[in-house]
Amino acid sequence: MARHDTVLVVGAGPAGLSAAATVAAMGKKAVIVEKEDVLGGAPIISGYSKLVPSGEWAKDAIGRMVSRVDGNGNVSIHKSTKVTQLDGEAGNFTAHLSNGQQVEAGSIVLATGFTHFDSINKPEWGFGTYEDVLTTTQMEQMVGTGQIRCPSDGRVPERVAILLCVGSRDRQIGREWCSKICCTVSTNLAMEIKELSPSTDVFIYYMDIRTFGLYEDKFYWKSQEEYKTKFVKAHIAEVTKSPDGRLLVKGEDTLVKRPIVIPMDIVVHAIGMDPNALNPEIAKVFGVGLEKHGFIDRAEQYTNSQGTTRKGIYVCGAATGPETIDDSIAQGQSAGSRAVADLYQAAALAVNA
Ligand SMILES: Cc1cc2nc3c(=O)[nH]c(=O)nc-3n(C[C@H](O)[C@H](O)[C@H](O)COP(=O)(O)OP(=O)(O)OC[C@H]3O[C@@H](n4cnc5c(N)ncnc54)[C@H](O)[C@@H]3O)c2cc1C
Ligand code: SF4
Repeated sequence: MARHDTVLVVGAGPAGLSAAATVAAMGKKAVIVEKEDVLGGAPIISGYSKLVPSGEWAKDAIGRMVSRVDGNGNVSIHKSTKVTQLDGEAGNFTAHLSNGQQVEAGSIVLATGFTHFDSINKPEWGFGTYEDVLTTTQMEQMVGTGQIRCPSDGRVPERVAILLCVGSRDRQIGREWCSKICCTVSTNLAMEIKELSPSTDVFIYYMDIRTFGLYEDKFYWKSQEEYKTKFVKAHIAEVTKSPDGRLLVKGEDTLVKRPIVIPMDIVVHAIGMDPNALNPEIAKVFGVGLEKHGFIDRAEQYTNSQGTTRKGIYVCGAATGPETIDDSIAQGQSAGSRAVADLYQAAALAVNA
């Protein structure tokens, strides 16, 4: 039966592309259902610049992942499509798609990713009020244009501030988690800004710096020592505008315990990773559980890695919580392999029935 040869992969970011390529490499069929009209997930949809840790442009690195599945005889792709209803059970699923088609699949991989934190939810830090307050994704898009300029009037900024932990580690707005990658992304962004605009000084305001593992040396120290990024341990209260039109970053330097008011030309919010805003709908359609923050829950971490709370449905990447691209790819391979193992099991059961 066709369904014993097919894995349904929902979402075509780094995790889903990796899962689909794994299924195809194992000789089975992957059917990708992606809600957007492009493949590649957040790095492509949001226009990331150079990725950490590779330093490769996102469009090239993720582009290679897309090429690996696009045109692969074992992979079929539905873009601008969602799964609206799921019938059946492990080994015998039927997914009804928003484009009117149906997919029969023995197992399913959810690779539905995350939603960027919306900085509007942090109004005291000026986003949405001042043109020169941007998010990391907007700043990465500016890096992609090859020029660093103040959006308000096009001048070259003398000083850029990057505020860390925007929408992460913030109990007041219900986001207790660390988004894992934004310290590293921000130290890298500081170096990219300096490369494009050598006269600009970049300041990073932080609670803690979490450039984990090998990233400490490659990003934190390099950014500080070679690119002269200035790190300030601070609690930021608000971002306002001074009469001369520059931005004012106000707060407390928590090392020397003194109030600070620092003029800046651009302020960048290092936004965190929220659960996919569609997760309640995804949980309902696929019958899987969510963990307490709203990410897709995992069954058991040691003997059922990538398993969800529902048999035959696996999950990978940032759908499970903040993840790096490297880890999302590894989880995609893991989920793809588990899903293929299920196909063999379902086929064997069908033969013995
Ligand atoms: C500002 C910023 C910069 C970053 N830079 C880096 C970096 O340089 N290096 C790094 O390692 N990590 C970086 N990350 C993290 C990186 O974005 C994630 O690790 C990665 O995108 C996770 O891949 P994913 O496939 O799990 O999810 P996503 O990239 O979110 O992809 C999920 C896909 O699923 C689709 N989808 C969602 N819901 C549905 C649905 N219901 N039906 C169908 N399709 C659906 C989406 O449209 C999307 O295409 C950064 C994160 C942020 C916030
Ligand atoms: S990685 Fe850094 S910026 Fe991101 S939430 Fe964690 S501590 Fe904050």
